[in-house]
Amino acid sequence: MTHAEMDELYDLYALGALETDLASQIDEHVADDCGYCIDHIHKAVNATAMLSGLVDPAEPPAEVRRRLMASVRPAPKQSRRWNFLVDALAVACLVLLAVGVWSNVELTRRQHILQHVLAERNQLRTALEIMARAQTRTVQFGQSNNVAHGRVFVSPNGTFVMIGSDLPAIASDRTFELWLIPAKGAAIGAAPVPAGLFRPNESGTAVHVYQEPVNIQQIAAVAVTVEPSQGSLAPTTQPFLVVPIA
Ligand SMILES: [Zn+2]
Repeated sequence: MTHAEMDELYDLYALGALETDLASQIDEHVADDCGYCIDHIHKAVNATAMLSGLVDPAEPPAEVRRRLMASVRPAPKQSRRWNFLVDALAVACLVLLAVGVWSNVELTRRQHILQHVLAERNQLRTALEIMARAQTRTVQFGQSNNVAHGRVFVSPNGTFVMIGSDLPAIASDRTFELWLIPAKGAAIGAAPVPAGLFRPNESGTAVHVYQEPVNIQQIAAVAVTVEPSQGSLAPTTQPFLVVPIA
C-alpha cells in the first residue's frame, strides 16, 4: 500500500473501523517505524477524539511522548531504537484513545436500539389501553391459519389497533402501509388516507397502532398494501387485506 492510498484510511484505522486485512497492513508498516504514518495516525486519532468530545485539543499523546523522551535520554547510538519504542508507546496511547472513541460509537448504537425497543413498548402499551376500553369494537378478519388473519380494534374516538398473523413476508426495502378507506360521501375525500407503516416479525405477526383520531362514521374499511420502505402517500400496490369496519 502506498502512502497516498493510506491517506484515505487513517481516520477509519484510528476509529478501529478499518477492515482487518487493511488494518494489519498498516500495523505491519507502522511497526517498521514509519514517521509519516505514525504522525498521520496521531492526527487522525486526535481529530476523531476531538469530534467525539472525548479530549480537548491539547494533544495529550504529544505530551506523553515529550515526557518519555525527556526521561529516557537514550545514548546516541541507540537513538533510532529508542525512538521506535517511544513511538510504539505513543501509538499504544492512541489505541487507547481510539478504543474510547469506539466505545462512544458503540454506546450511540446501543442507545438507538434502546430507543427502538422503548418505542415498541410504548406502542404495545397504547394498543393494550385501546383494546381494554369498554366501547372498543373488535372486527375479525381472515379465517384459516394459512391466510392473513387477525383483529382490528376500533375505538369510538377513531384510534385503531391492528393485530395480524400469517402476514406475507416482504423484502427488507418494503413495508406494510395501513390505509383508511373513506365511506361513500365522506367529508374527508374519496382517496385512501395513509395510517402508518409497520413490518411483520419473523413469524409473520405484526401489531400496528393508529393514534390520530378520525371520525369513525366516515371510514368504511381499513386496507393494507406493500409499499417502499419510506411509505407512500397513495397506495402503489393492490391491498392484500381489506377489512370492512363500518
Ligand atoms: Zn508509512
